[in-house]
Amino acid sequence: MLEIIDVSRSFGDFRALDQVNLKIESGEFFTLLGPSGCGKTTLLRCIAGFEQIDSGKILLDGRPLTDIAPEKRPIHTVFQSYALFPHMTVAENIAFPLRMAKLDKTEISRRVAEVLEDVRLPDKANHYPDALSGGQKQRIAIARALVNRPRLLLLDEPLSALDAKLREQMQIELINLQQEVGITFIYVTHDQGEALALSHRIAVMNQGNISQIDEPSVIYSYPKNRFVADFIGQCNLIEGRLEGWESGWRFAIPGLDSIPVQNNNEAFSSGQDCALSLRPEKIRLASRLDASPDECLFSGTVHDMLYLGDVTVYIVELGNGLQVEALLANSAPGRTRLFEKGDAVQIAWRHDAGHLVN
Ligand code: ATP
Repeated sequence: MLEIIDVSRSFGDFRALDQVNLKIESGEFFTLLGPSGCGKTTLLRCIAGFEQIDSGKILLDGRPLTDIAPEKRPIHTVFQSYALFPHMTVAENIAFPLRMAKLDKTEISRRVAEVLEDVRLPDKANHYPDALSGGQKQRIAIARALVNRPRLLLLDEPLSALDAKLREQMQIELINLQQEVGITFIYVTHDQGEALALSHRIAVMNQGNISQIDEPSVIYSYPKNRFVADFIGQCNLIEGRLEGWESGWRFAIPGLDSIPVQNNNEAFSSGQDCALSLRPEKIRLASRLDASPDECLFSGTVHDMLYLGDVTVYIVELGNGLQVEALLANSAPGRTRLFEKGDAVQIAWRHDAGHLVN
């Protein structure tokens, strides 16, 4: 539905977007995710038409958008700041784009009532924005953007002003709303948890480029490179060298035994320096472990720990000085830790638990 082909945009000497390519399907909840300054908002603004592109093409349903003025594009943007008119009621705010489009009064009332149902605020029609909570203002801003049925809804960090609990509630509402209305959403966030929770697919951006486009579970389990592995969730990145053996692939970690690994799609060749990305929750930790034949086992000492309520993070130092993060759930009430600093422990992980990245 939306195709972004070789799009570049510079500000002076600075390349904010560097030949970006992207295809978004109709009805997708698609997220642009990346650290501050990677170019997410610039890309969104180029799609909306608030920003010119220097080169490349943006096509909507096969037609170039480049020469269409922002207000003529079938695209709406929801900003973090809500941008509601304070002197208008909720119903007047939502009706505003329809009045601009000169729809008749009955049609306007019908559509306003319908979209207020969609965002579950039918009883707020006659309230002023000042009388609404942050979450309600955000829902009204989304209602106003949806009311004249855009092909694409762009959302720029819409939940970042809300507290953690309300954010989670709004995330669930956004997923349900997008399913109900079936409109394509392009969502910008720097919050990896939010991207994983909301999206059908995610584009991870870094310095004006796209590092990986995939479904959330693929991005999490099979990151394409160190940047994606490190940016999405907690990750151990263990440096080493891949060795091809007759019996399968092994990964040589300097100062430790080499261990069997999976080389997915044989993407790496023997002798190549790379890193093993390993999520902390894939690592077993105990004072003594009986490793199964499909696991590798290391001994180490507890170097540090961090109590997070549901889990405690342990930093375990292995013989070569390598530090590995592992998690243990705090299932016993009142217990914050099972081990103390300096305790001798063992860690183990399945040979297929890690994923090679370069
Ligand atoms: P954030 O999450 O902080 O909003 P972002 O990924 O959305 O970051 P952009 O707002 O797209 O990043 O900005 C990308 C880069 O381009 C930044 O370094 C920014 O300073 C720069 N930039 C954006 N707009 C302009 C502008 N109008 N003039 C000059 N530089 C700009």
